[in-house]
Amino acid sequence: MRLATSQDSRLLVIEQENAIDVTAALGLENTGSGGPLLALLESGAQHRLTQLDLSELPLLPLADVQLAAPLPRPGKIVGAPVNYLDHKIEMSEQKTIAEYGVFLKANSSVIGPGDDIRLPYSDMRTDQEGELGIVIGRTARNVSAADALDYVFGYSPILDITVRSTEDRSTRKSFDTFSPMGPWITTADTAGNADALDLTCWVGGEERQRTNTRELIFSIADLVAYTSHVMTLHPGDVIASGTPAGVGPIVAGHRVVVEIEGLGRLDVGVSDEGAIRYADRPGATRNA
Ligand code: MN
Repeated sequence: MRLATSQDSRLLVIEQENAIDVTAALGLENTGSGGPLLALLESGAQHRLTQLDLSELPLLPLADVQLAAPLPRPGKIVGAPVNYLDHKIEMSEQKTIAEYGVFLKANSSVIGPGDDIRLPYSDMRTDQEGELGIVIGRTARNVSAADALDYVFGYSPILDITVRSTEDRSTRKSFDTFSPMGPWITTADTAGNADALDLTCWVGGEERQRTNTRELIFSIADLVAYTSHVMTLHPGDVIASGTPAGVGPIVAGHRVVVEIEGLGRLDVGVSDEGAIRYADRPGATRNA
């Protein structure tokens, strides 16, 4: 099953070229800024999705729907640093996720298909990182790698946008618009083996990144298990699983596209509207 959220907060099941509106059938009207899918996952009622008679529900052409991120404000966003060997080499990193552990991104950084990444600084490099996003479906605390996939609800393409400044990693990756996600979440049963999916990322029409998720250093199960030993994972939390080689600067006017085999194609723009010089950021002159 493929689940999307429209800009007017409807929860949609995507079937081929159609969107079936399951919002009313699941009682997910007026669920607030977290959106209907987060509300469904938090209530633990996602099994109700498979009990619906979709043929009875309102259907409209997908082309007529303006999609938002499937989880416009996830519970939390966990990131994986250096989880592909080729990215370790390009960044001249000495360590991998095994030594670094995971990091957090602000959950306010999510945008959806067709939105724009906004560059915060006019004179500081900002990079794309195309990644597989993992959506948690059940509360996970200290789970084993053997059991970890039971806690995964589904997967989505995600971009982990990153400023290459001296700021802390959690700052550099948490600017508003820095976590484009979508176009939808594919449930784990539909996605199949997510540890063997082709991932491709284009910037400005040119291919920058190409890998297969079998190249992950920490597999999806490793990531969920490890993270759950650090922090409780709640339904609706998202883990960005790390990026392969090929990160590089994005500039205003670029389209950034990440496609994962069977999971869809996420396409967002880049804008420099509101960008400031790095030296002009609040507090910049207060060198202790
Ligand atoms: Mn990343």
